Amino acid sequence: MNQLKNLPSVDRLLSEAALQSLVAEHGHRVVSDAVRAELAAVREAVKSGAALPATGAITTAVERRVERHMRPRLRPVFNLTGTVLHTNLGRAVLSESVVEAIARAARSPCALEYDLETGGRGDRDDLVEGLLRELTGAEAATVVNNNAAAVFLLLNTLAQKKEVVVSRGELVEIGGAFRVPDIMRRAGAKLVEVGTTNRTHLRDFDETVGPKTGLVMKVHTSNYAVQGFIATVPEAELAQLAHARGVPFVVDLGSGTLVNLEQWGLPHEPTPRDSIEAGADLVTFSGDKLLGGPQAGLLVGRRELIAKIKKNPLKRALRAGKLTLAALEATLVLYRDPERLPQRLEALRLLTRPNAEIRAQAERLLPAWQAALAGWALDASVQPTLSQIGSGSLPVDRLPSFALVARPRGKRSGVLHKLEEALRRLPKPVIGHIADDALRLDLRCLTGVDEAVFTAQIASLTQ
Ligand SMILES: *Cc1c(COP(=O)(O)O)cnc(C)c1O
Repeated sequence: MNQLKNLPSVDRLLSEAALQSLVAEHGHRVVSDAVRAELAAVREAVKSGAALPATGAITTAVERRVERHMRPRLRPVFNLTGTVLHTNLGRAVLSESVVEAIARAARSPCALEYDLETGGRGDRDDLVEGLLRELTGAEAATVVNNNAAAVFLLLNTLAQKKEVVVSRGELVEIGGAFRVPDIMRRAGAKLVEVGTTNRTHLRDFDETVGPKTGLVMKVHTSNYAVQGFIATVPEAELAQLAHARGVPFVVDLGSGTLVNLEQWGLPHEPTPRDSIEAGADLVTFSGDKLLGGPQAGLLVGRRELIAKIKKNPLKRALRAGKLTLAALEATLVLYRDPERLPQRLEALRLLTRPNAEIRAQAERLLPAWQAALAGWALDASVQPTLSQIGSGSLPVDRLPSFALVARPRGKRSGVLHKLEEALRRLPKPVIGHIADDALRLDLRCLTGVDEAVFTAQIASLTQ
């Protein structure tokens, strides 16, 4: 107890050179709060029998507290999970030109809703509507916060107190909070399911669409696949039936890519243009899935329907901000030159990285990986793996890749979780994936200068 009398005071500690420079960087308040918190912790420790730490040890602990406290909560990480568009890790990484566009829009006032031709009020949707029309073949377009908002706004505008007819096989849940039946109810629409989980026919719609119907809707079953004895109704047939009854036909595409991805060996994904050509009156899709842009919800389709949607007061509540619109415009512009898209659109660049390049990288990194795991009772190796596109692209479609692998010697799987945690605690956390008694770091998304940062970091991995 007596030892506590020798505990330095707050002022005494704040006069230490190390803490003075912390004050210069972060301000007096933050550092003195950290000093008080540290002194309280030391007092508790001493009361329960610990020795009084030296002043230097206390200031070091204060420095660590301040560093942790001031570190941004939204931290950059290495996504080596094998899922390229990882929703929990922020989905699409943006291209450099897009990052610059965001910075430009942030640094200076910008003509967000200002018509530079007339000097009058403008419409923020005009910034990207032309590009979206060009790239999808639609008559008009509008942008909201995300695709969930787009679907909600569409239903609320066009189907409030009306029935929306959807195939039972398409009542999807996407990442927990977005469920088609829930969003319908919240939007004030009445869901009418037709067909069965595995088979829905045109006659099912034919028997159901009637005077109470507000919309016929198709939802892209993005994150699962029904295989075997299945039947779905092609969009063109649904459009024809809906139009014959005077009802709009709308499609929630989920992940909307604007080009044919098969040209780069990727799985087929339907495009908004396909749906528009098939007769869809409105199509909604995300900005940050396969499109490779910022979080946004895009609505494209018939002019009068888009105009109605824009008049809904909820549009104002769900609208996209200037940084999003700057990023979206800069992303869409890249699609004007499809040939160079895999080099220029970062998400597509990662998805199309040549397998041989990833393999060579894995082999180059193997010695550093082996050295990092030397003390861990883990075997380090390079193995082929399969990346996923992620964000609601078909989970059955996999992209061949290579991973650094750690596998426990014997049956000590606890050590894998320790390694996973140690990787997560690095200055730039490394997020891998544990499955089948091994931890894998899929290298698909480790490129450029990041490779050197990664190598330097794993050299200091400690148990
Ligand atoms: C991802 C997805 C959504 C939700 O999109 P967000 O942009 O995440 O809000 C809605 N519908 C489908 C079919 C999806 O795949």
